[in-house]
Amino acid sequence: MIHVGVRPPTGSVTENALVLGVYRGTRRLSVVASRLDRSFGGVAALLMDGFKADRGETRIASLKRGRRLVHTVLLGLGDRTQANAENLADAAGVAARLLITHRAPSVAVYLDDTVAGTLDAGAAAHAMAKAFGLATYRVGKSPAASLTRATLLCAQPARSISPHLRRAQQLVAWMTRVRDWVNQPANVLTPSVFTDDARSALVKHGLRCRVLTERAIAQEGMNGVLAVGGGSRQAPRFLIAEYGMANTRRPLVCLVGKGVMFDSGGISIKPWEHMHEMKSDMAGAASVLAATSLAAQSKLPLRVVALAPCVENMPGGGAFRPGDVITLASGKTVEVLSTDAEGRLILADAVAYAKSHYRPDVIVDMATLTGGVLIALGTRIAGIMGNSPRDIDDMRAAGDRSGEPVWPLPLDDRFEAMIKGDVSDYKNYGGRNASPITAGALIGTSAGTTRWVHIDIAGSSWNDGTGPGYQTRGATASGVDLLLRYLEILAARG
Ligand SMILES: [Zn+2]
Repeated sequence: MIHVGVRPPTGSVTENALVLGVYRGTRRLSVVASRLDRSFGGVAALLMDGFKADRGETRIASLKRGRRLVHTVLLGLGDRTQANAENLADAAGVAARLLITHRAPSVAVYLDDTVAGTLDAGAAAHAMAKAFGLATYRVGKSPAASLTRATLLCAQPARSISPHLRRAQQLVAWMTRVRDWVNQPANVLTPSVFTDDARSALVKHGLRCRVLTERAIAQEGMNGVLAVGGGSRQAPRFLIAEYGMANTRRPLVCLVGKGVMFDSGGISIKPWEHMHEMKSDMAGAASVLAATSLAAQSKLPLRVVALAPCVENMPGGGAFRPGDVITLASGKTVEVLSTDAEGRLILADAVAYAKSHYRPDVIVDMATLTGGVLIALGTRIAGIMGNSPRDIDDMRAAGDRSGEPVWPLPLDDRFEAMIKGDVSDYKNYGGRNASPITAGALIGTSAGTTRWVHIDIAGSSWNDGTGPGYQTRGATASGVDLLLRYLEILAARG
């Protein structure tokens, strides 16, 4: 992983590249930026001519200095009035990727003009470190990015910046792990491999973990999990990770994540075109586990429990069928109309389990749940709904801070009416109309009056190439920072 440090913008630049951020409308470099430029060959001043500085616009000049090739980069930051951490990270990600194509091993980034009067230096440093960490991500065994060291040049004392860099590094480490999990093929990352791997990672950070096997899942009456996993040779698992449970006065949050390791659609099989991407249908589970560990590493004054039902949805002799009626852990019965509407069944079970075993103050579930949310909101925004307006507001604030926005969809009895069953309490599919909401509504039947929020990350969990500058293709790990910021808001409220 790239190392990101900080030092004052004095002395000469010894890195292989210098990045100078410029807001739109800037005519000439600041005094400090000019001095850094001169110490590095003085080409940035020349590059300024006609540079518009739209966000993510770059100009690069490469010079031979002695035996080294060095690069000067002008980085457009866009409008100063729209300066925020996410826009800064977007631009920084573009610069990082440019330097990777030029094989620069190290970079110095001048920060002060970038943040002066617009952004808190700590938040800016966090955004830059996050961007550099995520943009240098590589899938699987592909060669590591050449860029391994970034230094922020900042006049603020290092001791005020370093904690923000440390937080960002922790976040990037978990987001990297989530991306690795989500990008892993389903023949490698089975329910048991995933839950074993996750447990050993979480235990290292002091979380208490338990993995329920198929028998224990059956004893808990989680028949939705059993039904969805029934068609696969890979038995289901249910991972529970706890943080801070000894402090019984602290607010208790249950984070539930969808862990469908591969979703073929089951008997209601999907078309083939995008089916290979269905290895990513466990992004919710990966994200809630990461956020719970980060809450522990940040020592947030909360109790947090992550619950991840993990299954493979396959056709097969043991598969559940359209027409089957399943009794969920909540006691409610559901008729299966589509075996491809499986996530809501395992989540309804997991939410019921969370409620009966923990009596939490609030339950949040996160899932790659519906194609409908992708149609409605695209790939950059997650859908959110639930029965608790305050938690939805808190999550929206968390989305603004993390750069992982959520947008509320209405959820009330009218949508629950759309999934009323003919031969059972409910049916698992309410038709194409309002499909993200009727899916959420079924999960909500398990939450009852407990505060509950459902986040549909089917669009935002996967980057098809249209994501922000710091995103690489494939898994995004979007949702991890969102949940962490939400937990921080809860912790601050006490
Ligand atoms: Zn499905």
